[in-house]
Amino acid sequence: MTDFVRTVESRTTFLVPQSSLTEKVPPKTPAFFNPAAKLNRDLSVLAYRAFAPYLARKTFADSFTGIGARALRVAVEVPEMEQVYGNDINSIAIEVAKKAAKINSVDDKCHFSIDEVCKFLLHGDSEGERFGIVDLDPFGTPARHIDCVLRAVLDGGLVSITATDTAVLCGVYPEVCLRRYYGRPLNNSYGNETGIRLLLSLLALTASRLELAIKPLFVHATMHYLRVYASVSVSSSEANDVYNRIGYIMHCFKCGNRFKAEECGNAKCELCGSAMRIGGQLWTGPFHEWEFVKKMLEQDPDRHCKKVLDAAAEETSGIPYYFRADEISAKLRTSPHSVQKIIEKLQSAGFIASKTALNPGAFKTDARIDEILEALR
Ligand SMILES: [Zn+2]
Repeated sequence: MTDFVRTVESRTTFLVPQSSLTEKVPPKTPAFFNPAAKLNRDLSVLAYRAFAPYLARKTFADSFTGIGARALRVAVEVPEMEQVYGNDINSIAIEVAKKAAKINSVDDKCHFSIDEVCKFLLHGDSEGERFGIVDLDPFGTPARHIDCVLRAVLDGGLVSITATDTAVLCGVYPEVCLRRYYGRPLNNSYGNETGIRLLLSLLALTASRLELAIKPLFVHATMHYLRVYASVSVSSSEANDVYNRIGYIMHCFKCGNRFKAEECGNAKCELCGSAMRIGGQLWTGPFHEWEFVKKMLEQDPDRHCKKVLDAAAEETSGIPYYFRADEISAKLRTSPHSVQKIIEKLQSAGFIASKTALNPGAFKTDARIDEILEALR
């Protein structure tokens, strides 16, 4: 235990390996803690606070809790949450999580266990009931645990899922992506959005198999992870409609043309005649719910997360891809245009245009690539 030191994040004290605070890549032993995931945890606290009033049972399950970082923050900073369950296969990590719960005076509502993830999830809470909120934040892919997460959450509950296999979801290993997520990625300038949509598609299709329906509420991404929040409800009729929200994105790697398609085919680019590449099957429906994002903003008086939430609140167009400002400038052979300027020019030309929460240097629009270039010339 001598290797563990106290550190405070927001209002919560953690016990973490000293080396995780000093080394560039936090080590996995004796226990894993990533200080760089603070924004990820900050956003999850806001999302859980926003969702908590609607929960029938105010219980939270942290499937890969490690030293208890997310579970402890929920116990301390989401006061509506009555019981918090954290699980990890690492007994050393669980030992320090328990100690930290005492330090934070939340040990009465924190329950830590050492078990395989699916066993933990399917066991349920101390009364054997499903959890109100289930979080899944594994090393690498969440794909193998999606079924268990959906089986472990209440009707009307919330799931939050992180994927760190970003190289797979963003297109570096398309065959691995196809087998894990049943869809093809696009290794291009908006690969992280395609990756999030592949993850949502796996979640939605798995849910439909279990007669459940999901509704995405908020998503975000960094270089190292993609993360989604979705409510889950029991409804075979909504599950029947899942394919209304599943489709494809066609992308031309030669001229940058892109569009949403309901069917995948061997399309030729209408602008340059090259073969279009197919992304998907993937989720083509909306992934930020404006009301929910507004509630998250209301829970953020310190405005730590304002930038990403403002962009998400503005991003209402439902267009399943974005354009990067530097990509457009390179085509125009000009110095970089600001995102705000581009949005204003597109709007004044009569197009829909907004920021995107997934990339601060990018924008969404219903204008085609040639129309964007024309509007900016
Ligand atoms: Zn083209």
